[in-house]
Amino acid sequence: MKTYCLQHNLEFDLTRSVPDMAALFAYYPGEEAEVVLRVGLEDTGFTASLEKGGMVWKSAPVSCDELVSGEVSRCVKLAVLDVFAQMTGQTVELPWGILTGVRPGKLAHKIVDSGTSFAMLPNYLQERYLLPAEQAQMLTNICKLQKQLVPDANKEAGIYIGIPFCPSKCSYCSFPSGIVPKDEESQQNFLNFIEQDVKNVVKLLGMHRLNVTSLYIGGGTPTSLNEKVFARLLQIAADNLLLPTIREFTVEAGRPDCFTQGKLAAMEAVGVNRISVNPQTFHDKTLKLIGRAHTIEDFYRAYEMTAKSKIPVINTDLIIGLPGESEEDIAFSLQKAAELRPHNLTVHTLTLKRDSALFGSQIGLPAESAARIVRRGEEVAAEMGMNPYYLYRQHYMLGHLANIGYALPGTESIYNVQMMEERHTVIGIGPSSATKLPHTDGHHIARLSMPKNIFTYTSNIQQLGEKRRLLFEE
Ligand code: SF4
Repeated sequence: MKTYCLQHNLEFDLTRSVPDMAALFAYYPGEEAEVVLRVGLEDTGFTASLEKGGMVWKSAPVSCDELVSGEVSRCVKLAVLDVFAQMTGQTVELPWGILTGVRPGKLAHKIVDSGTSFAMLPNYLQERYLLPAEQAQMLTNICKLQKQLVPDANKEAGIYIGIPFCPSKCSYCSFPSGIVPKDEESQQNFLNFIEQDVKNVVKLLGMHRLNVTSLYIGGGTPTSLNEKVFARLLQIAADNLLLPTIREFTVEAGRPDCFTQGKLAAMEAVGVNRISVNPQTFHDKTLKLIGRAHTIEDFYRAYEMTAKSKIPVINTDLIIGLPGESEEDIAFSLQKAAELRPHNLTVHTLTLKRDSALFGSQIGLPAESAARIVRRGEEVAAEMGMNPYYLYRQHYMLGHLANIGYALPGTESIYNVQMMEERHTVIGIGPSSATKLPHTDGHHIARLSMPKNIFTYTSNIQQLGEKRRLLFEE
């Protein structure tokens, strides 16, 4: 492994910006460093230099508008990118420029809120963050659309209930979900805790005036609960949280292997108006390989049932980069998804985190192919009349690409915007859920994450409810 050691005396945190750029050239921080990287601030701006075997390379200075962390990070990244490119002679693909965070949209909103017009935003992103023109335009369009969907001034809030169970574990998954307990008693016992947490949130809502507009039950796979328990979950949510202000009520029914007519009827009965039914791929061989205990036929069955139901908006998810799949395989899946004419299509790019069974495996789809197929996803969505309306990125993501949510106009998920852009309050219920409360500046948040471990969550439910209450008092 190629390593470097960093030397600097800046009073800013460089623990993400420098390694993110160096990693693009396959250089990693190490104790036995073969090169020395120096980052500093001179009169002309930030510079980076590299020393290796008596040779020295130095970046052009990057001048900084303001000595604040985000701007310093931008300048340092540009300097580090420049100096590594000089030393290695490599040009790296930067599908999202120097943006390495999970939520590029947050930056776009921040720039617009500071006075840059939507007309100027694409150029701003290209020049200062090296975004390719297409991505800069997409991010601008998304930001503009989000401001219409969930206007900042309305301060809309969302509520999320997380059910951390699935029928089996997908090999690419790093989410801390467990296999759903088979016996009804264990499922009901778990739900008793969710009910307590829901009641805590009801009290909280009584104390604070929140304009709650979205209710989302996700996971895991909430539909992995048996029909009776699932219907009780929906009833708890509907009785306590389905406020008159709610505009959307979503259920993740991602796994066709636990989807039944009875569960669908229960969702219809309480007024669920958005649902996700996810194939991830249209190849049975891949489903087997990734540990999803269903077939494409099962997916079609679940999708057709849903399409005939009263639930007006269906989302389907696909993943680019699943093991063993070629570009053609994924293009086929995109085409098959498009034939169903869902209202929303979410195209994920594979991310293998440390907690997933596949972490460290060779997936085989080259980054260039992944980038091409992401673009194909954009075309397919556009051909269906959909617009991109939210996106997020993750560390370890294939080809440094992005997950993109597309929707037909008028069918966008408000919750996804609230959750991803962190400009609105989100209250999380259930293990691994997060409560996020934006500060008045609109760009920082106070956050409480519920424990991932189910036992830790259930044993501390009242204390956690109290912590959440205090978050709203600060
Ligand atoms: S269904 Fe989703 S949450 Fe459950 S194991 Fe698969 S990827 Fe993870």
